[in-house]
Amino acid sequence: MSNRSIRPIWPWFTNLVTAVTTVARGMLVTLRTWLGTHQAGRQTFTEEFEYPELGAPVAARYRGYHRFDLTTCIACDQCAKACPVDCIYIGKERAEGAKGFRVTGYTIDYTKCMFCALCVEPCPVDCIFMGATHDLSSYSRDGAVVDFSRLPLEVAWGKATLNPTAVAASKTATRPAPGGLNASV
Ligand code: SF4
Ligand code: SF4
Repeated sequence: MSNRSIRPIWPWFTNLVTAVTTVARGMLVTLRTWLGTHQAGRQTFTEEFEYPELGAPVAARYRGYHRFDLTTCIACDQCAKACPVDCIYIGKERAEGAKGFRVTGYTIDYTKCMFCALCVEPCPVDCIFMGATHDLSSYSRDGAVVDFSRLPLEVAWGKATLNPTAVAASKTATRPAPGGLNASV
């Protein structure tokens, strides 16, 4: 047999060995983690946290879905101007018989938001914060567009969980939630 016919076989063979050993090593890591999980007696995530009824604990400075206080917002637009992806839309109207504006809409498009928190820093009245909610599942993109002014105040401000049901209900509201600021700056 000539050298010419033997040479191409070795690279193919070594590639095959590399592929098989790489997969085997990966599976060993999986097996080790799986055995470690069960030997340590760890519960599954849902057993431990009863998610979604009881949320998973998050760090104090966690940047989740926002908390927004409609009762103190003065519609100054500082947060919207600071947003690098322009995903905050503020509706406002002149307040009759008072200075300033009344908020008629405060929408964040979570299909664009990157949870950078730059909108939180410039707020002069501290009415927007990053919250602890870490998911907002929905069947359509519209479910990820949240108008905080249409949510019940306790949901928007994070006292109750921001959840898809509340967001869906807010889509049918034609006016901001009662309790919003009647404007004065
Ligand atoms: S967290 Fe960042 S991207 Fe999201 S709304 Fe605030 S500024 Fe915009
Ligand atoms: S949330 Fe704060 S920064 Fe944004 S419009 Fe309201 S008052 Fe201004």
